[in-house]
Amino acid sequence: MKYVDEYREPAKAKKLFAAITALASEIAAELGRPVQLMEFCGGHTHAIFRFGIEQILTKDIELIHGPGCPVCVLPMGRVDDCVSLAERPEVIFTTFGDAMRVPGSKKSLLQAKAAGANIKMVYSPLDALDLAKQNPDKEVVFFALGFETTMPSTALTVLQAEADGVKNFSLFCNHITTVPILQSLLDGTDLNIDGFVAPGHVSMVVGEEPFVYIADRYKKPMVITGFEPLDILQSIYMLLKQLKEKRAEMENQYARIVQKKGNDPGLKAMAKVFELRDKFEWRGLGSIDQSGVKITEAYARFDAERKFPMANITVADPANCQCGEVLKGMIKPWQCKVFGTSCTPETPLGALMVSSEGACAAYYRFGNIPELLEQKEKFLAKASPSK
Ligand code: SF4
Repeated sequence: MKYVDEYREPAKAKKLFAAITALASEIAAELGRPVQLMEFCGGHTHAIFRFGIEQILTKDIELIHGPGCPVCVLPMGRVDDCVSLAERPEVIFTTFGDAMRVPGSKKSLLQAKAAGANIKMVYSPLDALDLAKQNPDKEVVFFALGFETTMPSTALTVLQAEADGVKNFSLFCNHITTVPILQSLLDGTDLNIDGFVAPGHVSMVVGEEPFVYIADRYKKPMVITGFEPLDILQSIYMLLKQLKEKRAEMENQYARIVQKKGNDPGLKAMAKVFELRDKFEWRGLGSIDQSGVKITEAYARFDAERKFPMANITVADPANCQCGEVLKGMIKPWQCKVFGTSCTPETPLGALMVSSEGACAAYYRFGNIPELLEQKEKFLAKASPSK
C-alpha cells in the first residue's frame, strides 16, 4: 500500500536497529545509564507497542511514555460534568467513542447512557452539528476533546454553526495544549529525559516552531515523528545522533506531512474560536497554566459551560490509581499496584487503561500479561519489603 509499505520495510528496519544499537551503547556508556527518550504522543505509544518496537530495542534505551493521550489526562471532575450535562432532559450529549468508558467519580458516560441519558457517539463535530439541525427542540452538546490536532475541526464546526444560524448547539470544551505540558514536565525535577519523539499530528497543525522553542530553551533534542515503524526508528536514530554530537535541535522526520508553519486555515479558525484558559486540570498531573483553551467571548453562545450550570470541581483520583506517576514517566504501567488486577481494559480504574493510546492499555493489549504481573509482584515486594 502506497505511503504505508515503504515505511514498514524489514530490511531497512534491521539496518536502523543495528545503527540504533551501536549508537545507544556508546551514549549509555558515557551517561552511565540507559538513554531515556520520551514519546509524548499516545499515537506513538500505540504504534511502538503495536509494532513491537519496545520489546526489541536495546536495553541501552528506555522509552518513557508521555501524557499525549487526551482521553487519559481528562480529570474525573470533567467526566462528572459530562455526565451531569448528559443527564439533563433537554440535552443530547455527543462524544467520540473513546471517551465513553473514562471513569468519573460516580459513573462513566457509558454507564450514564445505560441508565437512560441521551448520549450519542459521533465521528466528527459536524455529525453533532447535523444532530442539532435535526433536533431543534433539543440542546446538542459536543464533547470537544483533544490537543491542537482536533481543535481546527471543532473551531470550523463552530464557525459553520454560526454561518447556519444554529442556536441549539454548543461545545463542552476540553481541548488542551502541548507546549505547556511539555514545559511542566521539563520544569519538574523528577525526570531525566534526554530527548523527545515529538508529536506528528499536533505538529501538522502548529508547525515546527513550538518545538524549536522547547529544544532551544531546555537544550533537549526533539524530532517530529510519523507513526509507521520506520518513522519511529528513524526518529530514535536521529535523537541518538544529536545526543552523540552534543546537539539539541528540533528536527522534522515527518516532513512529508508537517510543514514548517503548520496549517494556516486551521490556525486561523482556532484563533477565532479559542483562547487560552488561565489554568486547566490534568488527571494525575494537577493544574497547569495555560494548558487548555476555552471559547472566546465572540462565540460565547456556543459554550456549554456558559449555557448550563456546571459543578467544575476537582475530584481526586482513586487512592490506588497511579496514573500520574505513569504519565510523568516515574513508573512503568506494569509497576502500578493495580495493573492487570483491579485495573484492566474491562474494568478500568484509571483513564490510561481506557484509550487505545493509553500506555497501560498498550502494555495490557500487546504485552505478555503473566510475565508483566510476575515482574510487578517482584517490583512491589522490593519497593515495600515489609509487606
Ligand atoms: S493500571 Fe490503571 S490505575 Fe494504574 S496507572 Fe494504569 S490506568 Fe492508572
